[in-house]
Amino acid sequence: MQTQRTTDEFKNEPFTDYSKPENADAMRQAIEQVKSELGRDYAVIVNGEKIELDKKFESFNPAEKSQVIGRFSDADADAETLVNRAIDAATEAFKSWRNVRAEERADYLFRAAQIIRERKHYYSAWMVFEVGKTWAEADGDTAEAIDFLEFYGREMIRYAQKQPITQIAGEDNRLEYIPLGVGAIIPPWNFPLAIMCGMTMAAVVCGNTTVLKPSPDAPTIAYKFMEILDEIGLPKGVVNFIAGSGTKVGELLVQSPKIRFISFTGSKAVGLHIYEEAAKTREGQRWMKRVVAEMGGKDAIIVDAEADLDAAATGVVQAAFGFQGQKCSACSRLIVDESVHDELLEKVVALTKELKIGSPTEAETNMTAVINQKSFDNALKAITKGQDEGGKLIVGGVGDSSQGFYIEPTIIDEVKEKSTVEQEEIFAPVLAVIKAKDFDHALEIANDTQYGLTGAVYSKNEEKLEKARNEFHVGNLYFNRKCTGALVGAHPFGGFNMSGTDSKAGGREYLLQFMQGKLVSEKVGATKSESKEVLNAGDTSAKAF
Ligand code: NAD
Repeated sequence: MQTQRTTDEFKNEPFTDYSKPENADAMRQAIEQVKSELGRDYAVIVNGEKIELDKKFESFNPAEKSQVIGRFSDADADAETLVNRAIDAATEAFKSWRNVRAEERADYLFRAAQIIRERKHYYSAWMVFEVGKTWAEADGDTAEAIDFLEFYGREMIRYAQKQPITQIAGEDNRLEYIPLGVGAIIPPWNFPLAIMCGMTMAAVVCGNTTVLKPSPDAPTIAYKFMEILDEIGLPKGVVNFIAGSGTKVGELLVQSPKIRFISFTGSKAVGLHIYEEAAKTREGQRWMKRVVAEMGGKDAIIVDAEADLDAAATGVVQAAFGFQGQKCSACSRLIVDESVHDELLEKVVALTKELKIGSPTEAETNMTAVINQKSFDNALKAITKGQDEGGKLIVGGVGDSSQGFYIEPTIIDEVKEKSTVEQEEIFAPVLAVIKAKDFDHALEIANDTQYGLTGAVYSKNEEKLEKARNEFHVGNLYFNRKCTGALVGAHPFGGFNMSGTDSKAGGREYLLQFMQGKLVSEKVGATKSESKEVLNAGDTSAKAF
């Protein structure tokens, strides 16, 4: 059954207003529903077959660490066999999936989107439990997953249409985009539905087949997505699901000579390692692997002397502490003109103190736990280091892991340029405040990192904004608004330098990374004299490729 929705214009999925009692009730019910499903066993899925393994690993609720979310067959136990089986299944499925019409492939995405839309709170509730998203953050993630499906479906249809190329007399020239082959999909845990689903289905809609290795911190939501793919009848073997560690399953996938491309989103360290491994040609390999790697950030908000300080303070607090600072786009550096530093900080501190920290299952919670013990430890270490290197702790700084991995929203003022807390991604609710002498100095500080993902400038001065437009070197730059909250279609997303390959997820060029252009030129109505031209010294075409 086709949904016939392919020609509608793309529109972003609206966010849920939980201040409406009916929406809040629906979310509470979904939370109860998910609670009743916690702790179940989940298999590896190869070619549609569910394979239960004796060895298991568990996914936990970060805010209630004794609560098990799901028990997963751990592919690490027999990684080589399983990874090979999954790649072989995907290779076999590729033979037919690549020939399925683009419109039909897109229709699978539209139907998946419709299912998520209908059970939106159910999927959001899984994220509340598995990764500690507040209601609003989880709802945003679910909406983004829907957007990716709707957007990439339409994009594939666009790419399948006749492509504009120069026509010359006597030839019928056509350029078409064909899929690459079998891809490894390696997502992070922090947008466990949206990014996982977007990365997987972008590849799939282009005609590729995949092996999905979910993050060990968020495998349940990925499995729930596999259930949707089963429900829509996606052919077996198009998406295979292998939960296991990055260091075992992930490595084997990346190294396999049968993998044609790797779609990765995660940390800089892992991304660089994958990039290097993918560049090695292994026995039997017939291609150069393509790597799409979207990595970390050290994102800054610049607040100029001529800014609306109330708006800036709100934007900074939302971008620094939303989802506990665990967004690649999170504001981890506030660079403020020294003339407005004190006034701005007073506002930022006041708003930070208003944040309600608690369980993500409660509607009023603004902030909750960070993802795991390692993240908790790293955050506390970074806070100590920030002070050792001259920073002044003005809010927060305390962690409590008795029940879950709670870190208070933390602001370190007087941070020096080039200090560790100013340079390295922490991925926790830790904001470094750096004073700038003037706007040029602020831009200099902002650009002085290895990264280049997002950034924002608050200023009423058009000339300064124009300067930032040219000089602030980030993939996603925002003026007079926060640096988080990119919307599919409106804000194609991806960063420069060590933030990755700038793939621009949710943008028009994203799908090109999962396809290759094939040009077919057919000579039409060839005349006798033209056919004699072949070895003619005067033939200009002989000089070109
Ligand atoms: P991570 O790098 O620890 O893990 C990402 C994925 O890689 C996981 O599935 C993991 O199991 C796998 N992995 C780990 N080691 C591997 C290896 N050796 N070989 C193959 N796979 C391996 O990152 P994370 O903690 O899941 O996510 C947080 C990071 O992701 C942050 O740095 C954040 O900035 C970044 N991120 C970037 C974007 C973006 O669009 N630029 C979006 C979201 C998150």
